[in-house]
Amino acid sequence: MSHSVHSMSSQKTEIPKVQKAAIVQKSGARVEVRSNVPVKQPEELGPGECLVKMHCTGVCHTDLHAAMGDWPIPTKAPLIGGHEGVGEIVAIGENTTHSPVKIGDRVGIKWIAYSCLECEPCRKSFEQNCENVQISGYTIDGTFQQYVVSYVHCVTPIPEGLDSAAAASLLCAGLTVYRALKYSETGPGDWIVLPGAGGGLGHLVIQYAKYMGRRVIAIDGGEEKRKLCLSLGADHWIDFKTCKDVTAEIKRVTGGKGAHATVVTTASSSGYSQAIDYLRPNGRLMAVGLPAKTTLDADIFWTVYKSITIHGSYVGNRQDAIECVDIAATGAVKVHYAEKHIDDLEDVYSALNEGKIAGRIVLALN
Ligand SMILES: [Zn+2]
Ligand SMILES: [Zn+2]
Repeated sequence: MSHSVHSMSSQKTEIPKVQKAAIVQKSGARVEVRSNVPVKQPEELGPGECLVKMHCTGVCHTDLHAAMGDWPIPTKAPLIGGHEGVGEIVAIGENTTHSPVKIGDRVGIKWIAYSCLECEPCRKSFEQNCENVQISGYTIDGTFQQYVVSYVHCVTPIPEGLDSAAAASLLCAGLTVYRALKYSETGPGDWIVLPGAGGGLGHLVIQYAKYMGRRVIAIDGGEEKRKLCLSLGADHWIDFKTCKDVTAEIKRVTGGKGAHATVVTTASSSGYSQAIDYLRPNGRLMAVGLPAKTTLDADIFWTVYKSITIHGSYVGNRQDAIECVDIAATGAVKVHYAEKHIDDLEDVYSALNEGKIAGRIVLALN
């Protein structure tokens, strides 16, 4: 085994002293884009830290929750949000050992910015539940800035041939749905129900599910969403606005048996209670949405009687992230996104708040 030690002395990359970043002073304050935010210099990086010059960052509904302070876990303040970005490593802290990445590598920064790899959840591969976790754009500054300080062991190498803008949203939305499918205990040919299939998470879960050989029942509303879901390979479409009995329709399509699993990304509790009805015995409800102050309302009798598993699936670990981007690099998964600039962030937040964003938004950071 080779023990590589990185030294900054041989590196001559030009690192500016200040940069552009989008900052929220405290929870609920408006986001301000500033041009005079200090950049941590290479000689200030600790062992294991790296400086990433960002190409772009995705914007996620979670960033809005973080900025508003909606969740029961407090954020840092002032906060630079963002947790799905891609850039290039321009510096690595002195005395860093065993680095899996090097200067010049293109890497992704995901929600889980740091996990210690030593605590019990980490040892059991639940890095997302690390006792010493740091969360991008939440407990530490995230990807809404031109230079991000991250950690060599936790960044995700981006495969060649996968465009930075196309990769950005995979690091949150893609990773979340990929892991949920991976742990759904389904096999090729099994039926998976996807409520909200035409949305930002939904359009990705269809593609990963098809790549994995699952059969997909897509649920959403309207002609545009129907076209999108079917074009991505959904085997069956249900319009919840016009379908009188969604459970009966799922049973009919699956030969009277019900679906093997469902990945519920929606925020409403009805999406969960209905799943208990349409899953077959031993079915799995994969819960991946993170709505604030919403309880899961499941019928206990049928959950027990049908041996249903309700599985909370929270982003993913390093391996899940690598598999997620590697699958996308084959061309099997494409994010539907619109490109904007970091200067547009406030407008993007307004549009997100009003539910006006279809697909994902990726902001340029140059
Ligand atoms: Zn996100
Ligand atoms: Zn840990």
